[in-house]
Amino acid sequence: SSGSDENDVVIVGGGPGGYVAAIKAAQLGLKTTCIEKRGTLGGTCLNVGCIPSKALLHSSHMYHEALHSFANHGVKFPSVEVDLPAMMGQKDKAVANLTRGIEGLFKKNKVNYVKGYGKFISPSEVSVDGPEGGNTVVKGKNIIIATGSDVKSLPGITIDENRIVSSTGALALTEIPKKLVVIGAGYIGLEMGSVWCRLGSEVTVVEFAPEIVPTMDGEVRKQFQRALEKQKMKFMLKTKVVSVDTSGDVVKLTLEPAAGGEQSTLEADVVLVSAGRIPFTAGLGLDKIGVETDKVGRITVNERFATNVPGVFAIGDVIPGPMLAHKAEEDGVACVEFIAGKEGHVDYDMVPGVVYTHPEVASVGKTEEQVKTLGVDYRVGKFPFMANSRAKAIDDAEGIVKIVAEKETDKILGVHIMAPNAGELIHEAVLALQYGASSEDIARTCHAHPTMSEALKEAAMATYDKPIHI
Ligand code: FAD
Repeated sequence: SSGSDENDVVIVGGGPGGYVAAIKAAQLGLKTTCIEKRGTLGGTCLNVGCIPSKALLHSSHMYHEALHSFANHGVKFPSVEVDLPAMMGQKDKAVANLTRGIEGLFKKNKVNYVKGYGKFISPSEVSVDGPEGGNTVVKGKNIIIATGSDVKSLPGITIDENRIVSSTGALALTEIPKKLVVIGAGYIGLEMGSVWCRLGSEVTVVEFAPEIVPTMDGEVRKQFQRALEKQKMKFMLKTKVVSVDTSGDVVKLTLEPAAGGEQSTLEADVVLVSAGRIPFTAGLGLDKIGVETDKVGRITVNERFATNVPGVFAIGDVIPGPMLAHKAEEDGVACVEFIAGKEGHVDYDMVPGVVYTHPEVASVGKTEEQVKTLGVDYRVGKFPFMANSRAKAIDDAEGIVKIVAEKETDKILGVHIMAPNAGELIHEAVLALQYGASSEDIARTCHAHPTMSEALKEAAMATYDKPIHI
């Protein structure tokens, strides 16, 4: 443990924000300690978020493909079945390897790792209650709060992680539910819904808003919803869950139209509550040192990630901005660069968002709706994967690339992709936006054939001129 010798930087929380900040700080020559209560590093993302969900999405996709697509490609099995414990084991192995990997990176970079629950006793001291009792005080000239977020519960619904689960429970079910009801059609609900839908659950997604994933471009969203419906996911939009009754063998949900009206009921074996996440600062002692938070509990920071208390900073899910792992990482690097007297920069308009269903949906920049609201004259260029040779060759051609560009300058304002590998394809667009590229810049960049990336080039051509292949 760190004893009481003073650090240049102390970080509370070892998630993607905190652990990346710690490694970067050490690389910049700062004496660094990272405090984490969970027992493993990597935070929500590695332990119960991004990584286990992608493991299950991949495994369940393989099963689904084996069941529905392999025969079309001339690959036949007498029968295909799910071995759920093995599938979960594969996921757990991936998580364990990665979290241990971060401990290795800490050692390599000489980051001091203190296990336990941290709470402020002054703006430069954190008291840590160790997992086996005992207490250490860790001192730092600068302290970064990277305590992340937690599942948001809904009034009147108690999460027991058994029949009423959060994403954490949904990542560890021991049986495939016959009926799964997902409350909330954000990306986490749709990803976890996809996993269990592919494994055979009847999945109904109940959403209060009139549409799924509200941040998505409207046109892409419609196609996306249709793609999920083809996979037999059901949607009940503009619908409110009034109550959940767990007294019987099956869970009974009482529903009501969002606008009010006649109630209906829905049965489920498992209910997944995925109605968003809230900043986590419980037990941290923010009051004690006077750190300001906003109405929803997020820590207020300036553009240098400094809170109102000198020497105390905050990054990641616990501050405003997209609640995403890569955003937390960018925050962490920039925050530490400021502390080290360098310049840092994070542009939240350039943070890509990905939904890892099949097909995936990825986007960066503004949606057509946002551009319209801003009153900017714009052009739209689109290209469907049905006309992309690689997508056709592999028989996985559901999707589209849509580019929104400023009419006068052709500068790209937003790119929205639905494709099997949209999460990888999007980065060419992120780079283009970051460097202020025009659609013609992408169109005149040579793209290898046959690749899915060619659809982006064609959509760029369609934005300022005409595509070739449609
Ligand atoms: P966290 O990862 O939440 O880490 C905070 C850490 O601080 C935790 O480990 C916690 O134990 C620790 N901590 C809190 N308080 C204290 C304290 N007082 N003392 C000591 N330690 C403390 N994002 C993506 O970008 N891509 C995805 O695909 C993706 N998938 C997701 C899937 C699911 C199911 C979920 C739930 C989330 C997903 N996310 C995804 C979101 C992503 O996990 C978060 O945005 C990211 O983890 C935020 O990082 P963070 O470092 O700010 O906080």
